Amino acid sequence: MRNVVIIGSGCAGNTAAIYTARANLKPLVVAGHEAGGQLTLTTLVENFPGFPEGINGPDLVENMKQQAQNFGAEFLHGAVTDADFSQRPFRLNIDGEWIETRTVIIASGASARWLGLESEQKLIGHGVSSCATCDGFFYRGKKIIVIGGGDSAMEEANFLSRFGSEVTLIHRREEFRASKIMLDRARQNPKIKFMLNTVVEEIFDVSQKLVTGVRLRNVKSGEVWNQDVDGFFLAIGHVPNTKVFNGQIATDPDGYILGQGGARTNIPGVFHAGDVEDRIYRQAITASGAGCKAAIEVERFLEAEGH
Ligand code: NAP
Repeated sequence: MRNVVIIGSGCAGNTAAIYTARANLKPLVVAGHEAGGQLTLTTLVENFPGFPEGINGPDLVENMKQQAQNFGAEFLHGAVTDADFSQRPFRLNIDGEWIETRTVIIASGASARWLGLESEQKLIGHGVSSCATCDGFFYRGKKIIVIGGGDSAMEEANFLSRFGSEVTLIHRREEFRASKIMLDRARQNPKIKFMLNTVVEEIFDVSQKLVTGVRLRNVKSGEVWNQDVDGFFLAIGHVPNTKVFNGQIATDPDGYILGQGGARTNIPGVFHAGDVEDRIYRQAITASGAGCKAAIEVERFLEAEGH
């Protein structure tokens, strides 16, 4: 029987692990499909306090993990495939094996959203990317497409314009979710071309295992055409990783956990931390702060129950 199982090993999960380990609760961290979380997809992090020269995202999250391990946190490769929160102790299925725990911290984060085209999925890592900061470097002097109309798309298009010979931002509507300042910055960038009311129908060329072009469609005129491209970047938002808790943990319509004050969820003893509940701030430091809060709540919850 575990005192606490932490689901997820990004900033939120790892910080919760540091705190609960130092409280002698011997946490088990289930690392998840994207171990290390979003920071593993970034390069230099310049806004995490305490690192005046910046620190590489993967190093930062690995340091957190080591810090937690130094205090006795246990990390498990694998993912939670099923959960039963209907009674205590709670039960979690980790890749086929059930374990029992008194409390749970859900820090499973949010993953990049994809268009869902078969060609897109087959070309991930071969020209299709959801992380400009990770992969932009490979497209020096090349033709780049960015999909999306939010702040992420503007930010990524601007970033990618440092590398690409041209950047085309493709958005399915005319109106943008992006803030005015980010939109203006992208509009003023001479390397960025906007293509609106346009959707991607197909990405070529799966047979070459390389992105060579796309088939696009104007949703207003119905016109369909092909365009050459080397790099295809998605910036169409994120999906919270809560599917496995469906029907048990209260979420909003998009799947983000509905917090009940502090780090509480609708189920006493199950807490949340990080991007899985946060669609607004989504920062390494806010996720870490949330992990700390969840850990303190776990400590108090167990103490109140006499453990
Ligand atoms: P977002 O605001 O949800 O925007 C997602 C965009 O992708 C929307 O324009 C949406 O189009 C489009 N989209 C979604 N699904 C699509 C699909 N299947 N096909 C084509 N287009 C699709 O997500 P985000 O840009 O990642 O931003 C998330 C949050 O982080 C926001 O609060 C944002 O302000 C914040 N953020 C801030 C900064 C910054 O300030 N530096 C940078 C990045 C992100 P529709 O508009 O038609 O739905």
